[in-house]
Amino acid sequence: MFYKADLHIHSHYAKATSPQLTLELLAKWAAIKGIQLLGTGDFTHPAWLKEIKEKLKAAGNGFFYLKNAGDTGFCLSTEISSVYVYGNKVRKNHNLVYMPDIDAVERFNKKLSKYGDLSSDGRPTVTLSSRDLLEMVLEISDHAHLVPAHAWTPWFSTLGSKGGYDSIEECFRDLTPDIFAIETGLSSDPAMNWQWSKLDHLAMMSSSDAHSLHNLGREVNLFDTDFTYDAMFNAVKNKNGFSGTYEFFPEEGKYSFDGHRKCGISMSPELSNKVNNICPVCKKQLTIGVMSRVSKLSDRSVAVRPANAAAFEYIIPLREILSEINGTGVNSIKVEKAYTNAISFFGNEFALLKEAPPDGIRKYDPVLGEAISRMRLGKVNRVAGYDGIYGKIMLFEKDELQKNKSTQVSLFI
Ligand SMILES: [Zn+2]
Ligand SMILES: [Zn+2]
Repeated sequence: MFYKADLHIHSHYAKATSPQLTLELLAKWAAIKGIQLLGTGDFTHPAWLKEIKEKLKAAGNGFFYLKNAGDTGFCLSTEISSVYVYGNKVRKNHNLVYMPDIDAVERFNKKLSKYGDLSSDGRPTVTLSSRDLLEMVLEISDHAHLVPAHAWTPWFSTLGSKGGYDSIEECFRDLTPDIFAIETGLSSDPAMNWQWSKLDHLAMMSSSDAHSLHNLGREVNLFDTDFTYDAMFNAVKNKNGFSGTYEFFPEEGKYSFDGHRKCGISMSPELSNKVNNICPVCKKQLTIGVMSRVSKLSDRSVAVRPANAAAFEYIIPLREILSEINGTGVNSIKVEKAYTNAISFFGNEFALLKEAPPDGIRKYDPVLGEAISRMRLGKVNRVAGYDGIYGKIMLFEKDELQKNKSTQVSLFI
């Protein structure tokens, strides 16, 4: 079966998330997006786990469904923040953990609760190192897995410039062979990772890290294998049946360039290098983004796709495309209306973004048709994000849409 899986999301119990992140609305919005499988997120949180147990039923294949309704599958997942000292340095790493059944989750939570307050946040902070966390995961079940989350972001990741390590091996030491994949995160794509030969054996996974319903599926994993928990993870491990990912253009991520948010300074790796990574405004070290970090650690000047590596394609969330076309904010009524109409016409967001033939979209709306064609071809203008500020991906030149409005017949037919 071909399916899309968003395996990193959060519940309404995680900090800075929408109260709408309930199991019912998650299932509903997965269908709107065209996603067949969602991570539950936050299974370490006692109240969220209670909701999971009350509202979901096991399908017998390692996935779960809402008891009363819906075709959306759920997979037991959580994200854990490890904050600890190793090698005289404070390390802050986020890791994703997956479990095959509720019993495994409960045994895991019991052990983990010795290292932090699991009820304080849907994404709990523990004092356990990433390596020791992995050991605990492996001890719980042969079917339990750990994947380093958004592996390159500066503050909270395995390879990040501030809280991370200079290699996967340094972080996971003797247990490194049990790391089979990393989550590339919004600010990096698989090709950036293919610049470093040490990562060649790892699968490159991508999920949304959504803190709201709208952000579900902004990055997603593609599978062509049996719709079961074991088949899915075997596909990733064996690089057979994991078809790849839909990705942000990496510049759109919040940590693409180097920079200082409060000083309004954003620099490409080359520019930042020239000023020794020092902010020209406050004279302190810039927050080193993912592009710089990749070029520092990698050993190839260009990406070399490893044998069996899954493919990837870029997407832009439909709301952002509609926001550019309409010249109004992503949360405006105009965009909301256009979004709802497009979804009811095309069935779901991915059907429009990736599957509908260009001619069909042009017939529905010439400007949207042109936008989607450009996105699929990668013909976009990019303003890179930095130090926590999202970048911007634009499909049209400044005056193009204006000109089109003033003609009788659309320029994009
Ligand atoms: Zn995280
Ligand atoms: Zn500064």
